Amino acid sequence: MHIKEIELRNFKSFGRRALVQLKKDFIVVTGPNGSGKSNIIDALLFSLCLTSSRAMRAERLPDLIYRGDDGRAPDFAEVTVRLDNSTRTMPVDSDEVVITRRIKVNGERYHAQHYLNGRACTQAELQEHLARAGITPEGYNVVMQGDVTRIIEMGPTERRRIIDEIAGVSEFEEKKQRAMAE
Ligand code: ATP
Ligand code: MG
Repeated sequence: MHIKEIELRNFKSFGRRALVQLKKDFIVVTGPNGSGKSNIIDALLFSLCLTSSRAMRAERLPDLIYRGDDGRAPDFAEVTVRLDNSTRTMPVDSDEVVITRRIKVNGERYHAQHYLNGRACTQAELQEHLARAGITPEGYNVVMQGDVTRIIEMGPTERRRIIDEIAGVSEFEEKKQRAMAE
């Protein structure tokens, strides 16, 4: 499974709709400081609901909405990720999985909306599907600055926990614990 395309609308510095197409290969993003490279990664973290353990350098979700010098103040930000699912890594019967996450503000209030292949769903439902493809907040699908140093410096027990998580063992460990408690 790989990411084919990321579409950003009003997300952070991307005031206009931006399409980032990704080949199934090693990809490098270059550009001047402040040009939005890290914001593309933030868009991925946002859309794939990986935010709980990874900061997107925004205090509140509404801060992710574009606010530029052009006076425009959109009331939503949206990121769509298109994933190649030809290997059926995600248990959805289509070659492509399209995930959209939107944050919408209404005065002081805001809410998030989630879509899986165009169908509205809950965040829990979306995360369940992502987890089936090994995409979880704990999964190190995105390795952030400082993560490597942290892993090197942590103790063996904590490091083992990460390996269990990536290998998919911890899910069964949790189920086992639950079964034994019954
Ligand atoms: P560097 O090379 O320094 O790491 P970068 O290319 O990774 O830079 P980003 O961190 O992606 O840059 O982008 C930072 C820019 O995004 C800043 O100029 C910041 O003002 C802008 N930005 C962040 N949030 C918003 C927002 N909600 N609306 C408009 N611009 C924003
Ligand atoms: Mg950066």
